[in-house]
Amino acid sequence: MRLFQCPCHAASFAAYAPADTGGGSRPVPASAGPVDRAVLEELAAASRILADQGVVDAFGHVSMRHPANPNRFLMSRSLAPALVSADDIMEFDLDCEACESKGRSGFLERFIHGEIYKVRADVNSVVHSHSPSIIPFGLTNVPMRAMFHNAAFLAEGAPVFDIREKFGATDMLVGNHAKGAELARVMGDCPIALMRAHGSVASGPSLPIAVFRAVYTEKNALLQLQSTMLAAGGPIAALDSEEGPKADAVNITSASRAWDLWKRRVMN
Ligand SMILES: [Zn+2]
Repeated sequence: MRLFQCPCHAASFAAYAPADTGGGSRPVPASAGPVDRAVLEELAAASRILADQGVVDAFGHVSMRHPANPNRFLMSRSLAPALVSADDIMEFDLDCEACESKGRSGFLERFIHGEIYKVRADVNSVVHSHSPSIIPFGLTNVPMRAMFHNAAFLAEGAPVFDIREKFGATDMLVGNHAKGAELARVMGDCPIALMRAHGSVASGPSLPIAVFRAVYTEKNALLQLQSTMLAAGGPIAALDSEEGPKADAVNITSASRAWDLWKRRVMN
C-alpha cells in the first residue's frame, strides 16, 4: 500500500451509469449525434498541444465528454498525438465501445477515460501521458506537492495507482474495465493520479483545464526534483492546503490564456 493518498480520496461521487446491455455480445452503442466540427478541431488541437508541450510523445491521449450526452465521450483513433486531426476523432460509450468505428481502432488504454467518466460527474476531459519528470514520483514514497501557483491543484496531493497491488505482475497497461475502474477508485476526487512505473492522469471540468493540468504537472515535477536537490534535505516551502484552492481558482479562470497561446503554436 502506498503511503500517500489524496485526502479527498474517500469522498463519494455521482456516477453516470452506462446502459445495461443485458450481457452477451454488446450491440454497437447508439451515437449521441453529430458534434460541431469546431469541437472536434479543439480536441484534435489538444492532442497536438500536449505533444508540442512535451507531455506526450508517440504515446498518450486526451478525451472529452460528448457535449450532448454525458454517457458518451470523444477521443482520437489510435494514433501518435502530434498527428491527430478532427477526422480522427471517434465516439465511445462509457464502456469504451465505439459508436461507429469506420474500421478505425481506439487506444488500448481508453478504459482510463471511460472508467473515470463513469464515476466523476465533475470531469469533462481526461489526459493520459507518460511525461518523464512525473515518473519518479510514482516510483518512490515522495509525494508530489505544489511547487508554484500554476500547479496549485496539486496542493492536496496526487494519489499513486500501483497496478501491481490488485492485479499482480502485468504489462503495466490499463487495458480493461477492471484496471480502469481501479485507477479511477484510487484517483478518488483528485484532479491528478500518478501511475507507478507508467505515467499519470490529469482531469478537469473542461478540455483546456485538463490540458493545463497535464502541462503544469510535468513542469511541477521537474521543479520539485530541482527543489529537492537544492534543499539538500531541508524544508521545501510548497503551497499549503489553504493556498492551493485559492490559487487554483485563479488558474481555472485564466487557463484560457495558456490555451489560446498553445493552440496557436499547433494550428496548421
Ligand atoms: Zn499509458
